[in-house]
Amino acid sequence: MDELKGLLKGHKIAYFSMEVGLTSAIPTYAGGLGTLAGDAIRSSADLKLPLVAVTLISKRNYFKQKLDANGRQTELQNLWVPEKMMTLLPNEVNVQIEGHTVKVKAWLYKYQSVTGGVVPVLFLDTDFEPNAQQDREVSFYLYGGDERYRLKQEAILGFGGVRMLDALGFSVRKYHTNEGHSSFLAVELLRKYDMDEERVKELCVFTTHTPVEAGHDKFSYDLVRSVLETVDLELLKKYAGHDKLNMTRLALNLSAYVNGVAKRHQEISSKMFSGYEIHAVTNGVHSYTWTGPSFRRIFDKYLPGWAIEPELLARADLIPDGEVWQAHKEQKQLLIDYANQATGSHLNPEVFTLGFARRATEYKRATLLFSNLERLRSIGHGAKLQVIYAGKAHPRDEGGKRLIEQIYSYGRQLKGDIEVVYLENYDMDIAGKMVGGVDVWLNTPMRPMEASGTSGMKAAHNGVMNFSVLDGWWIEGWIENLTGWSIGPHPSENLSDEACLRKELEDLYNKLEYVIMPMYYDRRDEWVWLMKNSIGKVAYYFNSHRMMRRYVTDAYL
Ligand SMILES: *Cc1c(COP(=O)(O)O)cnc(C)c1O
Repeated sequence: MDELKGLLKGHKIAYFSMEVGLTSAIPTYAGGLGTLAGDAIRSSADLKLPLVAVTLISKRNYFKQKLDANGRQTELQNLWVPEKMMTLLPNEVNVQIEGHTVKVKAWLYKYQSVTGGVVPVLFLDTDFEPNAQQDREVSFYLYGGDERYRLKQEAILGFGGVRMLDALGFSVRKYHTNEGHSSFLAVELLRKYDMDEERVKELCVFTTHTPVEAGHDKFSYDLVRSVLETVDLELLKKYAGHDKLNMTRLALNLSAYVNGVAKRHQEISSKMFSGYEIHAVTNGVHSYTWTGPSFRRIFDKYLPGWAIEPELLARADLIPDGEVWQAHKEQKQLLIDYANQATGSHLNPEVFTLGFARRATEYKRATLLFSNLERLRSIGHGAKLQVIYAGKAHPRDEGGKRLIEQIYSYGRQLKGDIEVVYLENYDMDIAGKMVGGVDVWLNTPMRPMEASGTSGMKAAHNGVMNFSVLDGWWIEGWIENLTGWSIGPHPSENLSDEACLRKELEDLYNKLEYVIMPMYYDRRDEWVWLMKNSIGKVAYYFNSHRMMRRYVTDAYL
């Protein structure tokens, strides 16, 4: 087949992920899981790793976010045209769902690196004749619909994905289950290899991504029986749990290598899933993608080769202070121009700017900054502080939607003292602008819910300092007053929830008022030195080139 010419060579790592964030023009991602998968693909192509990615086409989504004057979110369809970016392959495979046959095809997207490396990405699709309407719709909505809908999607991804790789002629050496959504791939491999459990385990690598219980898919066996009629239930129960089909258990029991996405997350996961050996491969981000235009320019000038070898960023001290500051000023101006135009606000490039962007969901605590409004007002009084927010709430997450409305309301209350802006429709483009242009990146998740987090790593690539709760990757990246600042206690301190919150709020306000903002306004030399530390001591390590090399040596080989 012409489209696949040259792509079938070698023995591949098949990387399965429900969501993949390649560009904002392919909106088949909702958040960190997808952008991580996109960064893994980009780094694999740069490094010429033999990787093929498998995901779902999610044709009508992920949604476009619209916010009214009060910050009330509505969701618009995000129609996009796969034909413009990818090629539909002629091959078909079958998956049995609800007692009938659903045909599955794949769109091929070729991710090309400047190094000459290419990673094929297969977007599975059921939206064509002669599939029935309800089967065609399985390919429409990422994280949409009910449990039955989700189970069907996961069946297409796991069973359909393995079959499609076979049908296309890929030779696979490892299957990487990026979060439990694709665990059915291991069941398909059991069938393929005559129930040889040891062989299947050797083939499978599993990465778990969240300590949040609701993030682990579980299906009742009644539902499983009615959706996946041809699957042996006793077999599933053996690997996926007796009460419910737990997709995480399924992957844990059928993967010889399992990892969490930061060292702290490894500890938490080892407690959640005792009896399994869980490793840690701390996440990273694709350096070139997440470095803004001005920093790319100075990195090219002083650290040539950095994009292929991000370790070179350790030598950020070579860049003259003036050029670091100039690059930051340029990117800050780009962000502020964008934000002012998009929202009609009056952000000022001279003013110290905090950024906060993530999925709007309770545990991320987007409103923690406003806990003590009067204190915050006194810190920012006289136009010394402005804040830029962004983030979508899942359409059914009422709590998340309320958070956005609250931020709007706090913004109104602070008007005249602190400008608070909320950017609509957070996606990879807006993420790039924000992490490239704020002064400090704020993160206040409820511990230990942030498995890793990656946006702070993107910020570090642009000399932006992190000011964050000690959770996820930041425990590994944090050196107080050198790479940024902590909020709240270290996880080794055993504080009650109440004492923890008290310390978090103290740090949040005291460090802003007495440490961070005075340095920004009065000691610019020191500030720029910290910016260089953020690049040289954070970005040089927290990138997906290092992450993929770790997967190669620890999990794939
Ligand atoms: C990087 C990124 C995320 C993940 O960031 P976290 O810090 O893990 O919350 C989510 N959404 C988009 C659009 C991103 O670019």
